[in-house]
Amino acid sequence: MTFVVTENCIKCKYMDCVEVCPVDCFYEGDNMLVINPDECIDCGVCEPECPAEAIKPDSEPDLENWLKLNAEYSAVWPNITIKRDAPADAKTFDGVAGKLEQYFSANPGQGD
Ligand code: SF4
Ligand code: SF4
Repeated sequence: MTFVVTENCIKCKYMDCVEVCPVDCFYEGDNMLVINPDECIDCGVCEPECPAEAIKPDSEPDLENWLKLNAEYSAVWPNITIKRDAPADAKTFDGVAGKLEQYFSANPGQGD
């Protein structure tokens, strides 16, 4: 089991999660983060830290595609352990539907 970052992170990217992870397994894309499922020790500490409620245990239903996306992009995006400011318009995108189709970017973020 692992935790995964899901759709509501896209364009919210608050980054409260990265500083609490004991094994530094968050990776940064252009407008969202992902968790490396092979490195996550399933401690659950990050889940309540996410203001967008985007982090879920993969034991929840219908997260297979998100698990795949987390695994795929954590292999290519840079590691992130230090919190930076959220995008200025993060609040505007909190809870918006269809973010994966409309806004997902495969580009890497800047990392630490
Ligand atoms: S705290 Fe939540 S919204 Fe912010 S980067 Fe982490 S997973 Fe994404
Ligand atoms: S569950 Fe624990 S190990 Fe996994 S990403 Fe969250 S804080 Fe890191």
